[in-house]
Amino acid sequence: MDIEQIYKDADALLEGHFLLASGNHSNRYLQSAKVLEYPQKASLLTDALAKMIRENGIEVDTVCAPALGGVVAGYELARSLGVRSIFVEKKEGGMELRRGFTVSPGEKIIICEDIITTGGSALKAAEAIEALGAKVVAFASLANRGFCQRVGGINLPKPECKLPESIPLFALEDFTFEMYTPDTCPMCKEGSTAVKPGSKG
Ligand code: ZN
Repeated sequence: MDIEQIYKDADALLEGHFLLASGNHSNRYLQSAKVLEYPQKASLLTDALAKMIRENGIEVDTVCAPALGGVVAGYELARSLGVRSIFVEKKEGGMELRRGFTVSPGEKIIICEDIITTGGSALKAAEAIEALGAKVVAFASLANRGFCQRVGGINLPKPECKLPESIPLFALEDFTFEMYTPDTCPMCKEGSTAVKPGSKG
């Protein structure tokens, strides 16, 4: 399965001159939601992710996603694994379960994202779930931006990674892009202006 090609075909892997949330510039950007636009294709991706998780002997009762970005990926992964799907939502300083969702003490949970950058949201979701007595057995994501180390991946974890090394991260692909500060960006030097991909509409 050529994951990068699937992202390109879905216009989820953009090329251009982008202003990232960190303030850095990059010539590539992942518009993660686009790869989930067609449910039949999305389930092929989560089937592959579920296979990796099963082959590594991870037992799971429930998939939990941090809203909003992780919800669709988490729902499809739960379908692929044949388990239930819940999500946590942002609150001041963290995340919480709402809408009548509950977890049981000892329940085995996978935290699922569409994309893991530093893993900040996934970590907050894990903290919310563990505060309720359930156990986070793995993190899962369709795409890994290469700051955290995934099972089977070759990139070592970078200092920016917020996920604990004691819990495995499963992802389909590492997407490591060139990044520049605005004053060293070669595209800026050529006179073009970085755009915020999230607000392109
Ligand atoms: Zn630039």
